[in-house]
Amino acid sequence: MSTVSRNELMNYLTGLLSPASFKDYCENGLQVEGVDQIGTLVSGVTACQALLDRAVELNADAILVHHGYFWKGEPQSLVGMKGRRIRTLIKNDINLIAYHLPLDVHAEYGNNTQLAKLLGLTVTEGLEEGNPLSVGSVGELSEPITAQAFSERLASVLGREPLHIAPDREKEQIHRVAWCTGAAQSYIYKAIVAEVDAFVTGEISEPTVHTAREEGIHFYSAGHHATERYGVKALGEHLAETFGIQHHFVDVDNPV
Ligand SMILES: [Zn+2]
Repeated sequence: MSTVSRNELMNYLTGLLSPASFKDYCENGLQVEGVDQIGTLVSGVTACQALLDRAVELNADAILVHHGYFWKGEPQSLVGMKGRRIRTLIKNDINLIAYHLPLDVHAEYGNNTQLAKLLGLTVTEGLEEGNPLSVGSVGELSEPITAQAFSERLASVLGREPLHIAPDREKEQIHRVAWCTGAAQSYIYKAIVAEVDAFVTGEISEPTVHTAREEGIHFYSAGHHATERYGVKALGEHLAETFGIQHHFVDVDNPV
């Protein structure tokens, strides 16, 4: 079985994802240091205890996630849940590698690009006007479809029913779409400026419902976890291919 050194892997990821280009809410890159040589990589959306336990069973040398640790504003002490998670990593000599915004935005392996591929969307521009590293995209379906048909497409791709809020003035067809994986419901205002027929993100808040209805846009809350499975999975597969290492994507179900 081939292995890659931690340093070589991290240098490669730094070159690929340019983490220094982002102002983020957490550290991107190596968050917890483990063994020097990596032969088995486990990827997953969130570095929760269930993912760590599965990674231990799979004899992982490194875990790659979208949601790692050490978020701005969280308690710093390694106690309770946080202590147990870090202890699991250190006891088992497992590296924890996390990329948040760089893995939303990447043009090939990013969550937004991967979701677009699955939904049949072609990117035309970024959702954040004037930002070359826009979090979220605007694009088009190959042909207009009904809001119901788009809802069904989301359900079949993501394996869960989206929550669909239709506008008061019913728009028949959806062609131009904005999307941003994760908890980007506040980006509905950017989607309205971009004059799209529909906006897809992972979560919803109470005011989102009224904004969608009154501003005349179809809104789909399709699942934070569900919309963010695909970036880390694609990146893990790419690393396995590049370095000849083993890779397992582990999906720990999350209804949100
Ligand atoms: Zn997220």
